[in-house]
Amino acid sequence: MTQNMRWKMTQKMRITQNQKMMLVKDLSFSYNSKEVLKKISFEVKEGEMVFIIGPNGSGKSTLLKCLNGILKGKGAVYIGEMDVRRLSKREIAKIVGYVPQRCEVNHLTVFDTILLGRRPHIGWNIEQRDIEMVKKVIRLLNLENLSFRRLTQLSGGELQMVTIARALAQEPKILLLDEPTNNLDLKNQIEVMRILGEIARKEGISVITAMHDLNLASLYADRIIMLKDSRIIAMGGTEILTTENIERVYDVRVSILQHEGKPLILPA
Ligand code: ADP
Ligand code: MG
Repeated sequence: MTQNMRWKMTQKMRITQNQKMMLVKDLSFSYNSKEVLKKISFEVKEGEMVFIIGPNGSGKSTLLKCLNGILKGKGAVYIGEMDVRRLSKREIAKIVGYVPQRCEVNHLTVFDTILLGRRPHIGWNIEQRDIEMVKKVIRLLNLENLSFRRLTQLSGGELQMVTIARALAQEPKILLLDEPTNNLDLKNQIEVMRILGEIARKEGISVITAMHDLNLASLYADRIIMLKDSRIIAMGGTEILTTENIERVYDVRVSILQHEGKPLILPA
């Protein structure tokens, strides 16, 4: 074993020992001269469901792209104790699954697309275990009837489900989802959130989701991060979903009801 391999193994072990999955410290990011993330800091624990909310253009997608190393900002992003910038794409993909806001369409079948999620784990050959994992995820998300359709023949919602399936097949420790329920009908919205909540709880996967639907976030969140103009305005449990915070972030008046101990947001 090389020294580098040994270093990476100890780092991986540390992720499970100290339960801190991700640490973001003073992260700033600019596109050309425009700063769209300003000194963002937070931690994510194992099995936590974290929602990033904020108006269009507040930096949610950019933040998710910094978390998985697609974009590199100033400041630090640690996965466990590993600096994202020191990891290769393949190493990141073994730990972090990412569902982008816009799904790519190609001529592959649904089955092959989900199998691509296994790529970071596959050595020379696709193994039975990889095929089994794809089948498991297809069953989990009820995609059996679509397995051999091509992506070009899917609706927006179906494509979204397949993209989520591909990320789950990757068996990540951290799952980043950018507005995953946007194209989904009500049943699939509930189904996807239920499945994500379950894998977070049972498998200790940390799920970080950018989302517009405050009520879905309220129902499923362990923690909410409110972004506005590139900064964190508020962060905490669902108790931060107050009329004041929502008005400050979205510039809109709302009423808040309590439903089974969770805030439910309605227009004022
Ligand atoms: P959100 O996901 O919250 O809607 P984004 O992270 O997509 O916000 O965008 C944050 C800001 O950065 C916006 O003002 C957006 O116009 C700008 N932006 C996003 N992507 C790019 C890019 N590739 N080049 C330049 N500016 C960008
Ligand atoms: Mg976005």
